[in-house]
Amino acid sequence: MVYQKYLIKYAEIGIKGKNRYLFEDALVRQIRRALKKTEGTFAVSKEQGRIYVDCQGDYDREELLTRLGRVFGISGICPVVQVPACDPDSLCGHVTAFLKEAYPVHNQTFKMNVRRARKDYPLDSMELNRELGSAVLEAFPEMKVDVHHPEILVTVEIREEFYLYSQVIPGPGGMPVGTNGKAMLLLSGGIDSPVAGWMIAKRGVKLDAVYFHAPPYTSERAKQKVVDLAKQVARYTGPIYLHVVNFTEIQLYIYDKCPHDELTIIMRRYMMRIAEHFAGETGSLGLITGESIGQVASQTMQSLAATNDVCSMPVYRPLIGFDKQEIVEIAEKIGTYETSILPFEDCCTIFVAKHPVTKPNIQVIRRSEKKLAEKIEQLVQTAIDTTEVLIVE
Ligand code: ATP
Ligand code: MG
Repeated sequence: MVYQKYLIKYAEIGIKGKNRYLFEDALVRQIRRALKKTEGTFAVSKEQGRIYVDCQGDYDREELLTRLGRVFGISGICPVVQVPACDPDSLCGHVTAFLKEAYPVHNQTFKMNVRRARKDYPLDSMELNRELGSAVLEAFPEMKVDVHHPEILVTVEIREEFYLYSQVIPGPGGMPVGTNGKAMLLLSGGIDSPVAGWMIAKRGVKLDAVYFHAPPYTSERAKQKVVDLAKQVARYTGPIYLHVVNFTEIQLYIYDKCPHDELTIIMRRYMMRIAEHFAGETGSLGLITGESIGQVASQTMQSLAATNDVCSMPVYRPLIGFDKQEIVEIAEKIGTYETSILPFEDCCTIFVAKHPVTKPNIQVIRRSEKKLAEKIEQLVQTAIDTTEVLIVE
């Protein structure tokens, strides 16, 4: 059966009152964005606290559902049949015709679920449930009522027009991007950071990103991999401004001046400083990293404290308590995993010491950084000035 209309369900908790329309408008915008590149013509509309997608003419159902499945804020997608307002007898006919077309066989258990938004209708929902249920039993003698665990929940919404549906395809949940400000994602080519960005975006946060590369130690292909990852995340979030920072001179200078076992920590502190600079410049309210406690030497509690020491903005680390396997599962689900495991070098792995400090002392690290006093400010400024901004979508 080809549906021409979809009812979009969203979780309503926390969006009561005056915030509700902001949430709904953002959701409509995000759905329109997601459908822009989908073949077919779609109209997205908001009517009486409901969002509908109308399909005009032919379209690819799988593609439509995939695209809607990436819009945060959607909790469920219901293919609906819309019928003009009518009397209970005609409605019985519409419901049986709907079931006839929607299912190839008719031996399931079912339950009628009438929702009456129009109080002027002659029957109330209890009465309608009974009437419609009897009509279904009469039309399909092998179907049975099961009010507790029905195989088919036949929903009928009585509004200006009537809507019939029996399927709720789960959406990704969360909040529409744009309802919760913006944050700057430190995006590397690994498995973790794209997942971290996705998780924060799921709460309604728009993303920008920053990537530190170190040519010629890291290749053009390593950079392309990060662009590809940003693209995959952007399928959920909309366009991402990816700041590509040339980090080579800074890394070489740190390598030259500081103890090698502190290299990673000091490097990461400069990454955070530069990321925070761009965040401030572009209106981001926080930084996002893919760190998780204890995953590697630079992510022990002491290392995280030493990295955090240079940040004045909140740093969001949504993976902090996740095991690698849990992160991998999300990466697979959102489609970033295959790209993340491509074997290109990362600027953090080029200069790493054999035995990095695992319990850096902040005072010691600050002292080491003093050795950079002569040139570091100028190098950071140059890195900022030469940063390339790519709009990835
Ligand atoms: P990931 O899988 O995200 O690369 P990781 O396990 O390799 O993480 P680290 O290399 O210690 O861990 O990096 C921790 C976090 O620091 C990353 O999740 C990312 O947010 C940020 N980061 C690391 N390297 C870079 C880089 N070259 N550019 C931008 N951000 C980076
Ligand atoms: Mg990494």
